[in-house]
Amino acid sequence: MSKRDYYEVLGVERGADQKDIKKAYRRLAQKYHPDRNPDDETSAAKFREVSEAYEVLTDGEKRAAYDQFGHAGVDGQAGGFGGAGAGAGGFSDIFGDVFGDIFGGAGGGRRNPNAPQRGSDLRYNLELDLEDAVAGTSVDIRVPRHVECGHCDGNGAEPGSSKDTCPTCQGMGQVRMQQGFFAVQQTCPTCHGRGEVIKVPCRECHGEGRVRETRTLSVKIPAGVDTGDRIRLNNEGEAGANGGPPGDLYVQVAIKAHSIFERDGRHLHCEVPINFVDAALGGELEVPTLEGRVKLKIPPETQTGKLFRLRGKGVKPVRGGPPGDLLCKVALETPVNLTEHQKELLRQFQDSLGDSNSHSPKKEHWFSGVKKFFEDMKP
Ligand SMILES: [Zn+2]
Ligand SMILES: [Zn+2]
Repeated sequence: MSKRDYYEVLGVERGADQKDIKKAYRRLAQKYHPDRNPDDETSAAKFREVSEAYEVLTDGEKRAAYDQFGHAGVDGQAGGFGGAGAGAGGFSDIFGDVFGDIFGGAGGGRRNPNAPQRGSDLRYNLELDLEDAVAGTSVDIRVPRHVECGHCDGNGAEPGSSKDTCPTCQGMGQVRMQQGFFAVQQTCPTCHGRGEVIKVPCRECHGEGRVRETRTLSVKIPAGVDTGDRIRLNNEGEAGANGGPPGDLYVQVAIKAHSIFERDGRHLHCEVPINFVDAALGGELEVPTLEGRVKLKIPPETQTGKLFRLRGKGVKPVRGGPPGDLLCKVALETPVNLTEHQKELLRQFQDSLGDSNSHSPKKEHWFSGVKKFFEDMKP
C-alpha cells in the first residue's frame, strides 16, 4: 500500500508552519481518535496516518528529509519513535495540550516555550507597627520586578529587525540526538525551545523581552490586619511571557513587636506594675490603651497576676465582628531603694501581723502543702 503524502494527510500546504500543522493535526486527531471511534478500523488507520504525518512534519530533521526524499527519507529511520509507537500509545493527552511535545524524550511533559505564560506572583513582606495595623493605613512600597520591555514590546528583537527560524531546529524548538539505539528529543540548545532566533537583540532588554523595574506602589492596609494576612494586588506581579497576563503581588503582613501591648488575634495583652500598698488597699491605676490612657479601678487585696479585662479596648478584626478586649495583668512590684526609716516601718508592720497567717492565706496553704509533701515522702 503506497503511503499518502503527509501534507495531504494533514490537509496543509507544503510550506505550512508549525502552528498550522499542529492545528490541523489537533482537529484530525480528535476526529479519528480511537476513544471516539471504538472498533472502527478505518478511523484507527486514519488516526495512525495522521499521527505519523504529524510526527514527521513537526520534526525539523525528519521534515527536511521527507521534503527532499519523500517517504523513503523517513521510513524506518527513527526506530521506536516511528508512527507505530506513536499510534499505539502516548496519546492519552490528546485532548489536553497537544502543543506540548508529546513526542518528547523520556521525561516528556515539557511546556511549549512559545505558549502564553502567566507571570509569577510576587510576595512582599511588610512589617507594620501595631498602631498602624489596628487603625489601618496606606503605605508606599517599592517593588522590584520584571515588566514587559517597552522598547521591543516584549519581543526581544530590536524594533525593525526580524526573528529568524532557528537554523538548528528549523523552528521545532527540539532537536533529536541519536545515542546508540536511542533517539532522544531535547530542547534546542540554540533557541532554548523557542524555535526562533533573534538577529538583533533589543538594546534595552538584551533580547529577554523583559526589563527589571522598581515601582512604587501605594498599598491600602485595612484596619485590623494581623500577622499572616495577605493583601493581593491584582496584576502587579511579574510580567507574563508570550503575551500571557502578569502575576499578582501579595503583600504579606507581619506586625512588629510592641513595647507595651502583645497582640493575640483581636485581644491585646499588657502588664501593669502595681505597688503592694495599692494592691493591698485598692486604688486607681492608669493603664494604656491604643486610644489613650484610661483609669482602672483596683479592688483591695488584689494579687499579682490578676487579669483585668477592658471590654472593647482590643482590636476590631479586619474580617468583621466586634472588637476584642484589652487584658491587663497586674504585676506586684517589690519596693526597692528603701531608706532605713522605711525599712523600719516595714519591720513594724510585719510585727503587727504577729504569728497569724490569716493575712497570707496563700502562703499558709502553700506551706501546709510542702509539709504534707515531706511527710508523704517518709517511709
Ligand atoms: Zn532551535
Ligand atoms: Zn526589549
